[in-house]
Amino acid sequence: MAESTVDLGADDVPTLKDVESIISRKDYSSPLSFFPDHRERKFGGIIAPYHLSGTKIKCGIKSCRTPHWHGYLISTSDGYETNIGKDCGKTHFKADFTAEMKRHDALYERRLKLNRILELKKYAPNLLRELLALQSAYSELKSMRFKFRGCLSASENNRIESKVKSADATLYHYQERTKEERDAYLEANPASRKSGSVPPKEIPVGEIKGFWFLGATYKDEEIFNYINPLRQVISANKNHIAAWKQGQLNATHLWIGKSKTLIPAMESIVEQGKSFFNVDNLISLSIIGISEESLSHAVYELKKAMSSIGKSLG
Ligand SMILES: [Zn+2]
Repeated sequence: MAESTVDLGADDVPTLKDVESIISRKDYSSPLSFFPDHRERKFGGIIAPYHLSGTKIKCGIKSCRTPHWHGYLISTSDGYETNIGKDCGKTHFKADFTAEMKRHDALYERRLKLNRILELKKYAPNLLRELLALQSAYSELKSMRFKFRGCLSASENNRIESKVKSADATLYHYQERTKEERDAYLEANPASRKSGSVPPKEIPVGEIKGFWFLGATYKDEEIFNYINPLRQVISANKNHIAAWKQGQLNATHLWIGKSKTLIPAMESIVEQGKSFFNVDNLISLSIIGISEESLSHAVYELKKAMSSIGKSLG
């Protein structure tokens, strides 16, 4: 992080990363009394907020001394510095403190986001390549899915839809129940007793490979909306990024967070898609009621489409 840490320039807010960086400052003094305990000494201003981990620091107000991790280094009206917690700041210095606190918190947040974006900048070109490759793989698979669905009749497409809705990749054979099995079913499912209707027995005979690809929608494509913002991170230099408006900074920062789940999710959809388009897998869909005629038509069309881009159907 250190090498890309941005200096906020005119704001000149020091980074206080540990207790030492606070207490080693030349004007630092703790504890201190303030008005009215000390007649003369008043709040000067906030120098910087701090968010420590590990060792806590005691509040620099003499009547408080509560140890904490999060607080503010402040200056005093008589030229000292000390550190205080947010509650003490509000209690002792009221609106003077609160207004400064908001400004400093916003600045701190901005610096944090800026540094995360600069971290991203280091691996952004690799990330862009990865996203573009994913996008092209996904759009290829989508066009194959379109072709595949085009080879099915309307009622066969409905079967696919209901299978996707069931969120169950298992393929079943259905078997009528024997008299004993029917009785056992009614015994176990009191709600069915009135109608007396007993569903056939489901016998798992396999699984649709890459099943989850069938249900992928435009919502799963959100990650590709970030290709352009990523290009902006790559083309902007450090100073440009440091001057970005808060909105752009927030949006970029937000997607860095989201990309950590959206990219693996898209990678898995593409993997699913690749394993769906396999001759044996497609033929097995006859088990959910897709006719062999439609399936062999689909296999023929998909083979043709694959060979036109120099690939072959698995
Ligand atoms: Zn305190």
